[in-house]
Order: sequence, then C-alpha cells, then structure tokens
Amino acid sequence: MSLETTTETPAPVDVAVTAGADVALAADGAGSSGARPSGAEPRPAMSLSPSRAADFLNCPLLYRFRVIDRLPERPSSAATRGTVVHSVLERLFDLPAAERTPERAGTMLRPEWDRLLAEEPVLAELFTDDAARDAWLHSAQDLLGAYFALEDPQRLEPAERELFVECDLESGLRLRGYVDRLDVAPGGEVRVVDYKTGRAPREGYEAKALFQMKFYALVLWRLRGEIPRMLQLLYLGSGEVLRYEPDESDLRAIERKLGAIWDAISRATERRDWRPSPSKLCDWCDHQALCPAFGGTPPELPVLPVPTVPQALAADERPSPHTPGDEL
Ligand code: SF4
Repeated sequence: MSLETTTETPAPVDVAVTAGADVALAADGAGSSGARPSGAEPRPAMSLSPSRAADFLNCPLLYRFRVIDRLPERPSSAATRGTVVHSVLERLFDLPAAERTPERAGTMLRPEWDRLLAEEPVLAELFTDDAARDAWLHSAQDLLGAYFALEDPQRLEPAERELFVECDLESGLRLRGYVDRLDVAPGGEVRVVDYKTGRAPREGYEAKALFQMKFYALVLWRLRGEIPRMLQLLYLGSGEVLRYEPDESDLRAIERKLGAIWDAISRATERRDWRPSPSKLCDWCDHQALCPAFGGTPPELPVLPVPTVPQALAADERPSPHTPGDEL
C-alpha cells in the first residue's frame, strides 16, 4: 500500500472490458440520497453494495433508515460537487486526447451542473444566490485542477468508465456497484480507479478507504477470473494517490467479511433490531430526530421478509464521492 503526492505517469491502456450495466435496474433505483421514489413500496435489502455495507458497519440504524425505511435525505453541497466533478472526469474521456486539458474540463462544469439540476431540481436549494453557486463551481474547478496535477488524461484511454459490476457469490450473496474507471494495460493488467473529492485518510486509516476498492476487486475477480493488479484512489481534496495491489488472500478475506456483514444484516432484519452506533458521522446524519441516541424514536418498521434470496437493490448505490468528515 502506498500513499503518494507526486504526479503519476500512467501506463497506456487499450483493452476493452465488457460493461454489465443493468438498464432495467437503473430505472428502478432510488436516488443517491436514498429518497424513496414516489409511490414505491418499502423493500428488503437483497444484495450488498459497498455503500450499504459501509452504512451497516458504521451504524446499523442508519442502514435501516436508508435501505428499509428509505427516508429522504437533504442534498449536500460537498456530495453534489463530487457528483459534478465525477461527471466531468467521466465525460472528459469522450474528448480527443489533445482536448483533455484543465481549461476544457473547466468549461464542462457548468453544463454538468445544469444537467444535474434539471434531473434533481431540489438541488437548487443548496445555494442562496448565484454568487454562492459560482463560488461552489469555483471550488469544483479547484478539484479538477488537483486531478490534472495527479495524472495526465491525454496519456490515458480508459477501458471503462462508470462501469456497473455485479456478481453472485457462492454463498448466494449478490454484490453490486459502480467502478469509476477501469484501465487495462496492453499486457492485460487491470487497474481499478476511483475519484474522491475529499482528503486522503491519515496514515493507518487506509483500510476503510480500501474496503470499497477490495469489494470491486472481488467482483471483478469473480467476473473475469483475474485479480486486478492495482487499486487506485485519487484524492482530489488533498492531491494524493492511494495505491494498493490486492492478492487472493485479500479478496478471500473481504468475501468472508461481506458474508459476515450479510449474516448480521439478515439477523437484524429477522429480529427487527437495528441499533444506533453513534460516532462523529452523526454530525452529518439527517436522521438524528428519529435516532434514540439523540432522544428520537424511529418510525414503525414496515413488514418485510427476511432477506435470504438475493435480488435487485436500488441501482444507483454509488459510494459517495465525498465522505462526510473528510474535511476534518
Ligand atoms: S444519528 Fe448517528 S447513531 Fe443515529 S442513526 Fe444517524 S449515524 Fe446512526
């Protein structure tokens, strides 16, 4: 594992990977905020994404609020900025290599914001006036500047961007998620890349950040039969790169861990027992008013079957591009 701040010179890539996007599921999903679609019935969790697994590890009650109750959450400017920056970095590679410049990327911010706002008009509430919005866009520009300091997109041809991956483990547990970028070298080595708009974790705290990446590595290993050579997190908030080369024992360990998480989720569902686990993340939790740790009372649980048969969950369960607390 390494954490670097130097500019990277990536290997060129040219081998395509088949995308596994599930269009039907994409139409079925709740928003990234976890808001329940109008008229949708509450559903049990039937599969795991990195975000939901992390939710359960952080706080079982938060998992319940998001997955079972599907309570709406307020949009945050940091997470929305992360979404817009991700969109620009995804579309940047639609351009001819010579046009992938910081200036060109900067011109893509406003259209991406306008597109997102058209899809989710509630995001207009993030800003009191145009000046606040422009300052926010400027901060997004700074993140793009940090990206260009870390790697040169003119030298890259990603095999995949925003790749939906999904697999069923032998245990029957279905894993699913979205990979920001997949690079494949001429020799076939796969690099999994994820952009984070927050800061890199402090030394000794990388394991939590790598959980999501090992999750993807496990799914890709199951889908392709080969372990990705490199997991790479680009932290645009601090201009650092976290790299990790996974091996088979890593991925078997993460598979066992995911199985244990799933068992715990199934038990909590069966017992209807979702306990709060207060931490510093509570400062960013939208559900304090309903949380016993803050004197609240959760709503009545909907009647749901025990989730033993993996089925589809919301399609857009992307890990947040900005982890609450990254500012600290
Ligand atoms: S306020 Fe804290 S303990 Fe309560 S649900 Fe949210 S994250 Fe969990």
